[in-house]
Amino acid sequence: MLNQPVNQVKGIGEKLQEELNGLGIETVRDLLLYFPARYDVYEIKPLSELVHEDKVTIEGEVIGQPSLSFYGKRKSRLTMNLQVEHVVVKAVMFNRAFAKKQLQAGDKVTVTGKWDQHRLQITVSNYKKGAAKSQIPIQPVYAVKGNLTSLQIKKAVSSALTEYLDQLNEILPADYLASYKLPERKEAVRHMHFPPTHQHLKHARRRFTYEEFLLFQLKMQLLRKRKKEATMGNAQNFDDRKVEQFVHRLPFRLTGAQKHSLEEILSDMKSPYRMNRLLQGDVGSGKTAVAAIGLFAALTAGKQGALMVPTEILAEQHYDSLSSMFGDTAKVVLLTGSVKGKRRNEILRQIKEREADVIVGTHALIQDEVFFSDLGLVIVDEQHRFGVEQRRVLRDKGLNPDVLFMTATPIPRTLAITAFGDMDVSVIDEMPSGRKEVETYWVKENMLDRVLQFISKEISAGHQAYVICPLIEESEKLDIQNAVDVYNQLVHYFADDFQVGLMHGRLHADEKEEVMKSFASNQIQVLVSTTVVEVGVNVPNATIMVIYDAERFGLSQLHQLRGRVGRGDAQSYCILLADPKGEVGKERMRIMTETSNGFELSEQDLKLRGPGDFFGRKQSGIPEFKVGDMVHDYRALETARKDAQEIIQSNALENDGAYQYIREEIEADVIMKGKTLD
Ligand code: ADP
Ligand code: MG
Repeated sequence: MLNQPVNQVKGIGEKLQEELNGLGIETVRDLLLYFPARYDVYEIKPLSELVHEDKVTIEGEVIGQPSLSFYGKRKSRLTMNLQVEHVVVKAVMFNRAFAKKQLQAGDKVTVTGKWDQHRLQITVSNYKKGAAKSQIPIQPVYAVKGNLTSLQIKKAVSSALTEYLDQLNEILPADYLASYKLPERKEAVRHMHFPPTHQHLKHARRRFTYEEFLLFQLKMQLLRKRKKEATMGNAQNFDDRKVEQFVHRLPFRLTGAQKHSLEEILSDMKSPYRMNRLLQGDVGSGKTAVAAIGLFAALTAGKQGALMVPTEILAEQHYDSLSSMFGDTAKVVLLTGSVKGKRRNEILRQIKEREADVIVGTHALIQDEVFFSDLGLVIVDEQHRFGVEQRRVLRDKGLNPDVLFMTATPIPRTLAITAFGDMDVSVIDEMPSGRKEVETYWVKENMLDRVLQFISKEISAGHQAYVICPLIEESEKLDIQNAVDVYNQLVHYFADDFQVGLMHGRLHADEKEEVMKSFASNQIQVLVSTTVVEVGVNVPNATIMVIYDAERFGLSQLHQLRGRVGRGDAQSYCILLADPKGEVGKERMRIMTETSNGFELSEQDLKLRGPGDFFGRKQSGIPEFKVGDMVHDYRALETARKDAQEIIQSNALENDGAYQYIREEIEADVIMKGKTLD
């Protein structure tokens, strides 16, 4: 019955029905579940508790006669004084000339409107003669479109509740309701629309937050399960013993978090499912080490492995470190845009004929001319620069390898479990022991001299420094520091004492390499650079990171940059040069100086920016929830995820009668529509 068109509800005619359809309200059920966007609270608070600019309700007595003035074309302004708790408050009403006759000196009146704390004045949107007791304190306000008003929806909902609420089924299994002490569905629906008290509203919201998250997680996980079942067939039977030996030969012991992530990855590889996993961990937490072990495992299964990174510099670094890790157990080759001519052809041949075991490269790796002979595992560094499109290219080549994405941009757990709902996630949230935390300072740009002195001192002690500038060329905005200017300034400052290098995106690949090599070998002590060094470069002797105009960077980017130092044994420093104007900028600088944990930091970033902005609006694909909020209700989200896992794994949806209604709810979306995720 709830699936009937919404015009079955008393009082809803054809026109109103059309308007409601425009809001996505088709059925009676849709209407019942169309919750208010917000609430107006007509709760009388003492004057001392009113907040400037808030919508408030106050009660008082009219003093003297209200005065009426006209202006413009038929516009009016009615002003009166009210005595509220021994204080005189001015009340202003626009375009309600008629009210003058209704309000006399000595009348009690209740007014609602925007509060101006400084002038003790209220701009009235609503008034009522008499004391407030007859009012309902919390009123729903619905989102509307077109000619529809919130009041019309309120009335429609009200009659729908009377006629139809009884038919609404509980969908959450009783066990979950009981253990989380959530209100029953009917009651919660009623309280979402017409909450008698704040407490009732809170519980109703808690219930629907959980319901929404659980349904979302169930859908996601069901889709994932189906997708996995559809992508069987690439079990990699690697040699456990050889892998173990390889791990033993590493010059360090894996951290607990590394071991845990490695187990998850290896078990995906061994299973017949295609791995689609995200490996997250702060810069330096040892992701690459874990990835290398995965690559080695693929080799022992007789497969090729590939490592794909965003820049050539990084490809070269990884090529060097993998070559030395693997020694003569594997042939590692490098394929980037600057590998050309005969050498390129030779490498392409080696890849095709399975002479190359591990291929390291940039996006060049997935170009048409590259034919792998038997690709088992692809590792993609920095997942946000590699998308669905690239995955499709691989698939189109008839390759369906296990794929591991690595990212050092710690994605808040809250987002990881939603935005990446179709991906498994492994987290390395522990640093190898013995690492010193980078000390971070925020200084104003007029402190530059002291900063330079500090750099001199560190370099004299044998260390090196990065200096990061936001842009490479003079832009229209004169306030942006020019990297070339900074370079010249520092060359002048350090004169004959130390060498200064310059690095930016417009240099040729071989020039970049030259500069990077000179820095790595300490022929250059100070490297002035744009953000090209952001990703992955490893120079453990560098102990200072100076960032100009730091307020122009986002938190995650600042954190990435900071991760360039603190890679050796010596104490490292990050100095943020910034004069942020706004509060958000100041807050960012403060967070940077106080937080070194990337995950914590990303949660904070998320709070500052909101989920839409975190990934850039377009890309996000982040679901919008009606009631729940991923950031503030992340505990509920996590709980829902675990519960969904339990439900899916136990096949309760199919077999347990208590899950009948929730199954129907999900089937309507997932199974019937045959939706897939990419
Ligand atoms: P990421 O890829 O996460 O930035 P890497 O794997 O490059 O981190 O590791 C950073 C550095 O730490 C490398 O020099 C690596 O050899 C070293 N390392 C990795 N894991 C460990 C560990 N468990 N103990 C000590 N050092 C480690
Ligand atoms: Mg597999």
